[in-house]
Amino acid sequence: MASTTTTDDETDGVDESTGGDEIASDGVDGSTEADDVDDETETESALETARRQLQQAAALVDVDQHIVDRLKYPKAVHEVTVPVERDDGSVDLFTGYRAQHDSVRGPFKGGLRYHPDVTRDECVGLGMWMTWKCAVMDIPFGGAKGGVAVDPKSLSDDETERLTRRFAGELRDVIGPNTDIPAPDMGTTPQTMAWLMDAYSMQEGETTPGVVTGKPPVVGGSEGRDGAPGRSVALVTREAVEYYGKDLAETTVAIQGFGSVGANAARLLDEWGASVVAVSDVNGAIYDQSGLDTHAVQSHGEQPEAVMGHDAPATLSNEELLELDVDVLVPAAVGNVLTVENADDVAADLIVEGANGPTTSGAGEVFAERDIPVIPDILANAGGVTVSYFEWLQDINRRKWSLERVHEELDAEMLSAWHRVREEHEARDVTWRDAAYVVALSRVAEAHATRGLWP
Ligand code: GLU
Repeated sequence: MASTTTTDDETDGVDESTGGDEIASDGVDGSTEADDVDDETETESALETARRQLQQAAALVDVDQHIVDRLKYPKAVHEVTVPVERDDGSVDLFTGYRAQHDSVRGPFKGGLRYHPDVTRDECVGLGMWMTWKCAVMDIPFGGAKGGVAVDPKSLSDDETERLTRRFAGELRDVIGPNTDIPAPDMGTTPQTMAWLMDAYSMQEGETTPGVVTGKPPVVGGSEGRDGAPGRSVALVTREAVEYYGKDLAETTVAIQGFGSVGANAARLLDEWGASVVAVSDVNGAIYDQSGLDTHAVQSHGEQPEAVMGHDAPATLSNEELLELDVDVLVPAAVGNVLTVENADDVAADLIVEGANGPTTSGAGEVFAERDIPVIPDILANAGGVTVSYFEWLQDINRRKWSLERVHEELDAEMLSAWHRVREEHEARDVTWRDAAYVVALSRVAEAHATRGLWP
């Protein structure tokens, strides 16, 4: 299983953008699902977006340019070929990647996605975001991302298991509980992580739950991991709404994507008094201006693509949802949905990024000019990797935390990160994204400077 390390730079990328079909999980996390939305407009790869964001943040921070230059590139990208025996006995080959961006603050960390648009560059860009996400949260992990270019809907459960076990075999020398710890992402689920953990453990000859996070609790997963990205989106939305002087009970919210991120965020905000007026999946959106009963709408995990089957006063397209006149818009489906093509038509007063990379650089500029705050993904959906860290702590210590403890610690970590980013936002009078990058880049760059050039 050789994995090869490459450093070439192709580009393509489609990032999580378009898609099609499923959305994933939490956009972030992985969990599975979601729906997804098409974006046939501006395309910008995750790597291009991530590099632009880094460049912009670097101008705000006093950091050695050599360190910034290094951080524009991954430490390594492993590309592997994954042969899979289909149920009919034929064999198909798929390409898999693991892009390891930076590990100066701790083991590489980030999801694995199964999606036809997975490319080397997408993994590198998403891996960079993981570095910043872990650093914003002050979690002792670096950043990575990987995946297989495959449409998970085209695989039976048995084929998915064989693909996952073989992929785990190919990545064996690359991952490990102290080196690189995968997790779910688009198109992968807790079950995928259980297979990965089992394959790795069989090769090692010992059960090694700490090699992946986002596992089912019965095999070392953490309580609350599944709902964590959505919970962090809801928490950050609540803080941001309050910051801008609004009452959550008088706030309307539209959420694109009803996978683990979107559905959990919607339900919590609903419980906390907000009015969630629109939610969507890949097929379109439902709208009720007096507020949807979000618990009655089935999430992608409960019943894939069920949103449009829910009885609601009106239906909309995903594009129309993004342009609704609401207080808060939460894109929680796929990347690149807010582009220069529609940024002028967005009517929300606040955007909270549930997915990874939903806003292109061009759209970000439009929102800055229009004074529409965008709370960035690397803060808003960081609950997923934060509870992944809790899971890893539980695994290596062979201890189990209660759901109450997970929620308590997650809420505390999110609030602390929110306030740290808010301080930079206020002190420097910069966008929320730049403020989050300042916090993250300062921590990563200081770690590089303190350890020396080698790491
Ligand atoms: N895939 C998730 C993300 O994008 C979580 C990764 C993890 O938990 O390691 O944040």
